[in-house]
Amino acid sequence: MHEMALMGDILNIIQDDIQKRSFSKVTKIELIVGDISNAMPDALEMAFDVYKTQSIPFLDKDSKLVIIREEAKAKCYICDTEYFPDQKLALCPNCKIPSGQLISGETFKVYSYEGS
Ligand SMILES: [Zn+2]
Repeated sequence: MHEMALMGDILNIIQDDIQKRSFSKVTKIELIVGDISNAMPDALEMAFDVYKTQSIPFLDKDSKLVIIREEAKAKCYICDTEYFPDQKLALCPNCKIPSGQLISGETFKVYSYEGS
């Protein structure tokens, strides 16, 4: 599952950042995960639990991962209909052609974290 790698990248970014802030522990990480990003929230949580057992110095068993879902939304550039695509290339429900431009849903990023 590639969420192990994604979560590893997130932890590397946070590790770099906490060094700048002289934090030694991270108690909570909030991620924004779009519904059509390449990451599955359940798999990210599993990956986080695995990393917590791998003696990463700034995580302990009470560190929390919070996933904020971002709804996928697209707007048709022909008829202006806004709709909720279930994949990147989704058909406009009105025109029945893939004429939508994604407005949201692909985000995958750290929203915030807390530590000390
Ligand atoms: Zn349309």
